[in-house]
Amino acid sequence: METNAEYRDEGRCAACGGRCCIIYFPARCVVTPMEKSWWYGEYSDFFHWDRANYGVEPLFDPAAANAPETPEPVREALRKRGIDPDACEYKGSSGCIIAWENRPNQCKAHRCYEWELTDAIV
Ligand code: SF4
Ligand code: SF4
Repeated sequence: METNAEYRDEGRCAACGGRCCIIYFPARCVVTPMEKSWWYGEYSDFFHWDRANYGVEPLFDPAAANAPETPEPVREALRKRGIDPDACEYKGSSGCIIAWENRPNQCKAHRCYEWELTDAIV
């Protein structure tokens, strides 16, 4: 298996909008009770350890958006701006807002199952 593979198809991923970028939702449902809102900040810093080199600012603060005291209307207001509060804070309505060259390596190396399947049958 290639370890340094990059899968680049910005058109495909922009059209998709970044389904694979909903990185906080599984934790909300399965791993981490919502009360542990600090976890979202820690995970964000772990996932985005190189954020100083992204060249863009995050669209929202995932720890604040997932804090137990955050009222649902605040999350709804994010959605109205095309931002999913359960998704990565760099995902806009057309997917990742970070230029390809500056994206985290784990994101550039990711290819979803549907994409893999498409490539396999072409
Ligand atoms: S890798 Fe797949 S799920 Fe992720 S943004 Fe691209 S098309 Fe969408
Ligand atoms: S950095 Fe970009 S590609 Fe990676 S999870 Fe966040 S929005 Fe998706």
